[in-house]
Amino acid sequence: MSGGNTFLGMPAFPQNAAAAVQDSQLRFNLRKATHTIRGKRASVVAELPDWEELRTAGKEIKDHTLRNLERYLLQLEEAVTAAGGHVHWAADAEEANRIVAGLVKATGETTVVKVKSMATQEIGLNEALEDQGISAYETDLAELIVQLGDDWPSHILVPAIHRNRSEIREIFQEKMASFGRAAPEGLTDEPRALAEAARLHLRERFLSTKVAISGANFMIAETGTLVVLESEGNGRMCLTLPETLISVVGIEKLLPTWQDLEVFLQLLPRSSTGERMNPYTSTWTGAVEGQEFHLVLLDNGRTRVLADEVGRQALRCIRCSACLNVCPVYERAGGHAYGSVYPGPIGAILTPQLRGMESELDASLPYASTLCGACFEACPVAIDIPEVLIHLRGKARHPRAERLGMRAAGWVLNSPARLAGAQRLGGRLRRFVPGRLPGPLSAWTDTRDIPDIPAESFRDWWGRTDGGTR
Ligand code: SF4
Repeated sequence: MSGGNTFLGMPAFPQNAAAAVQDSQLRFNLRKATHTIRGKRASVVAELPDWEELRTAGKEIKDHTLRNLERYLLQLEEAVTAAGGHVHWAADAEEANRIVAGLVKATGETTVVKVKSMATQEIGLNEALEDQGISAYETDLAELIVQLGDDWPSHILVPAIHRNRSEIREIFQEKMASFGRAAPEGLTDEPRALAEAARLHLRERFLSTKVAISGANFMIAETGTLVVLESEGNGRMCLTLPETLISVVGIEKLLPTWQDLEVFLQLLPRSSTGERMNPYTSTWTGAVEGQEFHLVLLDNGRTRVLADEVGRQALRCIRCSACLNVCPVYERAGGHAYGSVYPGPIGAILTPQLRGMESELDASLPYASTLCGACFEACPVAIDIPEVLIHLRGKARHPRAERLGMRAAGWVLNSPARLAGAQRLGGRLRRFVPGRLPGPLSAWTDTRDIPDIPAESFRDWWGRTDGGTR
């Protein structure tokens, strides 16, 4: 069963993207879906005259929280504990998985339902539970499609965005029975019929499962409240019906006060689904009657990201996916090419920071962008994604030939005399410049023309003609 954790061992982004752009069905599905959401987002954002002020408020609340993270996390722990919940701290994926598996085992159950948690995908929780004999069932409709299809999520908000209706019908018909209630006879690919099949399948699952695992969109430090925003209502079933609820949440999801939520309840739905308000907002504080509640606070590289002055702004992210929907690279390459549960522009800056840039894939992610800046414009918490991309490119390992080339270029460009000499030499040798560069440099000329080198540089022309007067 797919859990959608880190796709370690995947080739680098350029190879993945080159293969993905050959898939015309994928490109069609992605273009249709991203353009629809993009249009809806643009029109509801335009309705708010104070959108820019809201954006600034969101940015400042998040920055303030991140600067005082330790204080607010301790306040949250105190509030959750006072309300009857249990708080666990997990430094990395392994520790988080061990804590969750231990909590599930203590209940004596071997199945769990899951909702709204990218953090559990990030740590590979489903696979870790499977190793302990525990089956995890996704209950978010798109996550269910991904899990039944033994697939990987490819979008933050719509993990099955790369699938169309007829593909979903096939997956339901072939796989639902082996996961529980089978798909109805004669299932069509009408959205209503597909939704009904999922509803019946999931309802049976909700009513028979005693342990649930969730994420959260926000955690409020002053009250110890967790907040989940969703569209389907499945989350509410998942959060309330089981006897034990375990929430695994990244430590950056914190907000200091209940009032801060007001800003994000406007920013998030408009940016993600293009709605004025999300259909379901669930909040819970500590343990409710008849239910045990555990909160697992996940670091997994986040404090390391926080230590980077430029890169830390990625922790403001509220996972709305607006940056994915406007990104020309994501639209063509799709989410799988990023090899991470966080695809698109935010994945290109968050994943290499969380995982480090040792693997070829992670080192290639800061280059998975044209730096057009559309992501920055769309981001509701004003994360300057291009700035972080460039910062990370500076930190990535570069091939020796490239380093030598850059050093030579720096030597030439640092001196006007050397630059003028190089330009004169270039002018004299211009006849010998080939149309296509050799070796690794051909990656540049395969898709671009080499500009003509002028016989005389502007600087020399200026000197010779005294600024065009002779
Ligand atoms: S980076 Fe900004 S636009 Fe992208 S998912 Fe995060 S909050 Fe949304």
